[in-house]
Amino acid sequence: MSTERLSRRITTIAESATMAVDAKAKALKAAGEPVIGFGAGEPDFATPSHIVEAAVAACQDPANHKYTPAGGLPALKEALVDKTERDSRWRPEVSRILVTNGGKHAVYNTCAAALNPGDEVLLPAPYWTTYPESIALAGATPVPLPTDIASGFRVTVDQLERARTPHTKALFFVSPSNPTGAVYPADEIKAIGRWAVEHGIWVFADEIYEHLTYDDNVHHSMRALVPEIDDQFVAINGVAKTYAMTGWRVGWMIGPADLIKAAGNLQSHGTSNVANVSQQAALAAVSGDLTAVADMRASFDRRRRTMTEMLQSIKGADLLTPQGAFYAFPNIQGTKMSSKKFADDLLMEAGVAVLAGESFGKYGDGFIRISFANSTDRLEEALDRISSFVASRNST
Ligand code: PMP
Repeated sequence: MSTERLSRRITTIAESATMAVDAKAKALKAAGEPVIGFGAGEPDFATPSHIVEAAVAACQDPANHKYTPAGGLPALKEALVDKTERDSRWRPEVSRILVTNGGKHAVYNTCAAALNPGDEVLLPAPYWTTYPESIALAGATPVPLPTDIASGFRVTVDQLERARTPHTKALFFVSPSNPTGAVYPADEIKAIGRWAVEHGIWVFADEIYEHLTYDDNVHHSMRALVPEIDDQFVAINGVAKTYAMTGWRVGWMIGPADLIKAAGNLQSHGTSNVANVSQQAALAAVSGDLTAVADMRASFDRRRRTMTEMLQSIKGADLLTPQGAFYAFPNIQGTKMSSKKFADDLLMEAGVAVLAGESFGKYGDGFIRISFANSTDRLEEALDRISSFVASRNST
């Protein structure tokens, strides 16, 4: 055996911070502590019943007990063509869709299929933790681009241009954003898309929160605004957030034929087809109407307002009102605590689990992420606990 027992590539991966905080909160809860978990980005709703019913029916059909094409059920891919046209205003060919085990798997597949060692990937920061790990697993280098409250947590073309080198291969573009809650307006998306086209840079667009936008903010797919980006654009999406289906594990990626073929080959050896029952549930989700989605969004919006109001009243906290997704990302430097200490002490002393901003890279330092996907009564109680926690710290 060589001296190294395990793979260097794999052992350098960090544990998912979101999952770790969730596990810690659940362990405290199991030990009888009245912990409220705001760590994981997971809707508290059950999956809408028409989707569950489709899955129950799928269980009874022996066709779903067998292997199916590794790249996805043809009927689901057809439905995704229509869904993309309905929601994103462009119509992909069915051959350009790959159904994956969740959006996370689509991120991994995309990086694995497109990147080589030495490539640089521009990554607006603070960022979702899975991006840098997937980039690094492909041997490439993430290049974080700092954003903050003043810039609305959005990167500009100037900033992208300053970071561009001969090695720049791709940009991760996520709007609405986890963890910042930022949503890019159409003109900025257009400018960024045109810049990417001009320089032959891939855009990996994570559109998983497309339906969760608030006030006047709306999601725009870069591919619809800049059609000429087609050959260097990958849309990453999934049912988890929109339809309260985190546990079903269905996502997809849409991209140029060569990239989808490469990612499909990888998937055919790694996982084969996504569970057929889950795919049938996803089919019911994406081909049904958006009534249940609108109801859930309205509920998230109410929670967002409650949370925003309360966070704005906390001394030492500064907040960009969340524009999309279901996260508030306040800067808590004014409380004189580091975000790690804030999150640790809040959990141990007040029983509220939030994520320290550095979980989302060093530019997240000084922030905490609070998910407002929790139910309203627990939300209010948790917000009270946070207020009391900060007040007790301010008075000492
Ligand atoms: N993209 C973003 C920005 C996310 O926040 C998440 C979930 N946290 C995902 C993708 C992946 O979701 P899933 O794998 O559950 O489909």
